[in-house]
Amino acid sequence: MTLRILVVSPDYYTYGAMVVGGVCERWGARVRLRRTPDPKALRTSDLVIFSLHSTHHLLRKDVIEAVRKAIDAGRRVIVGGPVSQVPELVLERLSGVIVAKGEAETVLPPLLDALREGGDPEEVEGIALKHDGDLVDTGWPPPADLEEPRPLKVPRGLDRQDIRGANVYIETHRGCAGACTFCQVPRFFGREVRWKPLDAILEEVRALMRAGARRFAISGGTVNMYGDDEEDFARLLAALSDLVGRQNLSAPDVRADLLNERVLEAIRDHTIGWIFLGVESGSDRMLRRMKKGITTDDVREAVWLARRVGVRVAASLIVGYPGEREEDVEATEELLAELAFDDAFINVAEPIPGTELGRLVTELPEEEIPVLRPGKRMETLAGDRALQLQLTAFTTLSRPVPLTDDVYREAVKGVREEERKVARITRFLREHAHLLRGTAH
Ligand code: SF4
Repeated sequence: MTLRILVVSPDYYTYGAMVVGGVCERWGARVRLRRTPDPKALRTSDLVIFSLHSTHHLLRKDVIEAVRKAIDAGRRVIVGGPVSQVPELVLERLSGVIVAKGEAETVLPPLLDALREGGDPEEVEGIALKHDGDLVDTGWPPPADLEEPRPLKVPRGLDRQDIRGANVYIETHRGCAGACTFCQVPRFFGREVRWKPLDAILEEVRALMRAGARRFAISGGTVNMYGDDEEDFARLLAALSDLVGRQNLSAPDVRADLLNERVLEAIRDHTIGWIFLGVESGSDRMLRRMKKGITTDDVREAVWLARRVGVRVAASLIVGYPGEREEDVEATEELLAELAFDDAFINVAEPIPGTELGRLVTELPEEEIPVLRPGKRMETLAGDRALQLQLTAFTTLSRPVPLTDDVYREAVKGVREEERKVARITRFLREHAHLLRGTAH
């Protein structure tokens, strides 16, 4: 009998959920991909897989309720995604599920075999579950071989989806050699970078285009880690832009110390011509704490080089990192003023379980964690600082944004949502500190 699998990707269709769906289809299941598990889809499925891309999903009532309903309806439920790095946390919130750890290609097929053939899922490498109240954890599965063809399960209507300006983020490689304390990429995918053959990437993009996707961004942490050298990266961008049009392609996330003229020329010639530089902070002390592996001088050089080549630069900044002082925030404001970025995105430091930051927030006293300290204008000190940086960014951009009432209100609203979400996650992790000991490696 063909197994009917419902894959749920909350909020929007992530690339990861499409991989999960594709893996299940190739295994032989009939697969449907949904953003919410509607009752009919649930009734006509044998198994439900929740592909969770944010820790926040573990705290959301709708997700918890959907998982409970599926279990109450007698379905086996599998949960995967970055949250699987600390399966105890998932099992604490979503009882009765099987956590599929790591990459779908290696963990799911043997798990589906076991579930279909009445085998024992506890024998499968890379899963975690509770058995009579005890944790069963069978380790981390091996990384997937990206050379193998791996069709995606592509839902319809991708043209209506908007993720930071793109309909969909595509994957060209996995892994990152960096060691940033706040980032899950090297922990989840490993520090060795693996990449896909160009033909396989183009095939996936064609499938996504047939489903309506028009605007594409390349994900994978640091885009130019693709291939053996910058020529491979340039060939990748050229082929993608021939297919989708350069006005529809962005290669956003880059590290300041990995940029060179050739990489920037490829970005200028084959994409919308922007980079999103992981600046994180204008304080070298904070960059060291984050183990970012770059200095503010690397950022300056990267910005000058990008300007010389003709690429526009948006800064991605982190504020409210544990141990941050007022002078660190001032240093970031000074860097914003000095470099006059073309755009800037301010994020409150979010502790992801399994990362060093995720563990750090469970070990430090509350006074050292800005998102847990009361603010003056906003609810938290991290919120105060995020707003302060956002307003500074508006006035120091290469094309400054006039600070109208509407702009101010929108900024306050965005920061408030962010500080609340991060404060909730931080408290959640602190309440479960015992589960996070020894999790960051
Ligand atoms: S933030 Fe970027 S450079 Fe740092 S570890 Fe993550 S993917 Fe790598």
